Amino acid sequence: MMGDTMKAIIYKSGGRFAVSEVPKPQIKKPSDVLIKVEVASICGSDLQILKASAGYPAKEGVVLGHEYVGIIEDVGESVMGFETGDRVVIEPDVSCGVCRQCRAGRQNLCDNVRETGVFSDGGFAQYSVMPFKAVHKVSNALDPEIAVWAEPLACSINGMHKANINVGETVVVLGAGPIGLLFIRAIKSAGAGKIIVSECMEARKEIARESGAIVIDPRNTDINVFVREQTSNYGADVVIDCVGSLLSDAVKCVRKGGKIVIFGINANAECIVKPVDIVFNELTIVGNYIAKHTFPDAINMLEKGIMEVGDMITHRFPLVDFKQALDVLYAGEAIKVLVKP
Ligand SMILES: [Zn+2]
Ligand SMILES: [Zn+2]
Repeated sequence: MMGDTMKAIIYKSGGRFAVSEVPKPQIKKPSDVLIKVEVASICGSDLQILKASAGYPAKEGVVLGHEYVGIIEDVGESVMGFETGDRVVIEPDVSCGVCRQCRAGRQNLCDNVRETGVFSDGGFAQYSVMPFKAVHKVSNALDPEIAVWAEPLACSINGMHKANINVGETVVVLGAGPIGLLFIRAIKSAGAGKIIVSECMEARKEIARESGAIVIDPRNTDINVFVREQTSNYGADVVIDCVGSLLSDAVKCVRKGGKIVIFGINANAECIVKPVDIVFNELTIVGNYIAKHTFPDAINMLEKGIMEVGDMITHRFPLVDFKQALDVLYAGEAIKVLVKP
């Protein structure tokens, strides 16, 4: 019967997926909301999940997708503050609220986290059911293609808090995918003196330059040598690794007493770092995992147009053409790819 099923991208083991017809999710708990998905976007972590040797583990049979926006179609009886017709974005990592990490204010490190689109059903689908505490209202006037950036932007804002950039500083960003580009723009507006970016893909290099960065291609330029040249041998004040496998480079190009933020996720990466370099140079190395209380700020920036994101959308595909959407990313032609159910 029409309406009882929906199209969704289902994760299969070994980095495979299927475009499937699955039962439409139902409100099961009084705290659930049913969302009709308008737009979803493909994240670097989705690409890691969809590798034969996954750089990011996921559960077989799950509906993929954690960056999405939609309209609430129905609400459970204990839902507060949301009603049918509201446009919402999803905060995909749903914390339990009661474990020791949550009670200490580190909800992003929750021991019982529900990772939407990874271990529980996500938004590469026509519908999604989420607990109301995991959704954030956005203005119905905000274009859903812009609203869908709330999740990556919220994660980058958490990274910006860690990086704590001061006016005039030199910052190196390794990797200029959507996250790297969000960092470049945020770093620029934080008043950085110089932003040096390492990236291979042409389209991404171009937009990084337009955003105010000096861009090198790591295939023909040694980032460490270049950063030393650019800083009279001083090194970068802050290095942000948006790839997740470049700690060795980061340690080489950061200044004495400088800071490295590791943001990218690659479970297969192993890096050779000499601990003595961290000791002699008093380096601070911090990891950044997802968003932490940063969704409201991200939404505010998107609603007010403070962070421009629309120019980074290079492709749009119907959900059923998910394979083509991945192919443009693998081919290195795309920056941000949206899918629409
Ligand atoms: Zn993401
Ligand atoms: Zn918890």
